[in-house]
Amino acid sequence: MTPDGIKPFPDLIREFHISPRELFSYLRLKNIIQECRINMREPDHSTPFILKCMGKLPKTKALSLCYNTLLLHNKPSKSSYMSKWESDLGMLIPIERWHYAQRLTKQASHSLNQWETYCKLTMRWYLVPTKLAHIYPGSDDRCWRCHNCEGSLLHIFWSCPHITTLWQEIHTLLYKILGVTVPLTPDCFLLHIFPDTLPGETVVFAIHCLMATKTAIAHRWKFPLSPSLSEILGRLDSTHAYERMASRLTSSQTKYRSRWQVWVDYRKGEPPPQGP
Ligand SMILES: [Zn+2]
Repeated sequence: MTPDGIKPFPDLIREFHISPRELFSYLRLKNIIQECRINMREPDHSTPFILKCMGKLPKTKALSLCYNTLLLHNKPSKSSYMSKWESDLGMLIPIERWHYAQRLTKQASHSLNQWETYCKLTMRWYLVPTKLAHIYPGSDDRCWRCHNCEGSLLHIFWSCPHITTLWQEIHTLLYKILGVTVPLTPDCFLLHIFPDTLPGETVVFAIHCLMATKTAIAHRWKFPLSPSLSEILGRLDSTHAYERMASRLTSSQTKYRSRWQVWVDYRKGEPPPQGP
């Protein structure tokens, strides 16, 4: 079939090497189609396999066909939560950087709990006041800490005046422990979209520190006070103990030491470098 109707018989002979003796069958089928007014059209998005079956890919071998099909259908596309974050932050983040941040975070810890917390935030799972006001019209959409601004996801986790001091303290802490400046931006601190210049193991410890902070913020849901720095340090001690035990079970002590030695040194009270 073509978009305009039934293909002429000579075309079918030439394209599919049909025997001329099939003319009678062709005419019968043509008659049925015309009587029933069947409006058959070629699919708009024929897959390579359909095209091969129809004899339209004569020189493509099976393995090449498989690779071409994989390349055709595995183009990554952005999820809606990624677009919403980009809209909130007023910036475009390439899909590769999103995937890299997710991979880094997943590989940073043995704890599924930590990975779950990261997913909840990036996928905008939390029922913040603005979302609740959308679901239940008339409910208060303001932040429960400052009672002044809209309680959006970005405000609750980042821009609320009651929590900016904590993030500044974490920024300084990271500099003291790692000796590098991690950009104090929401894409970096909330989503782990780090600059390429940060070394790999440095990034891993930063992820633990940032996740401890975000977990503490979520733990104090609807509490007027933000978490303190000492609470974050306590959470990091717990994470450190967990990762040390997990490294023994998985025989990955070398990786554990390269990641956590900076924290052990810091807790021993070694003189830290000057602030940024
Ligand atoms: Zn607020």
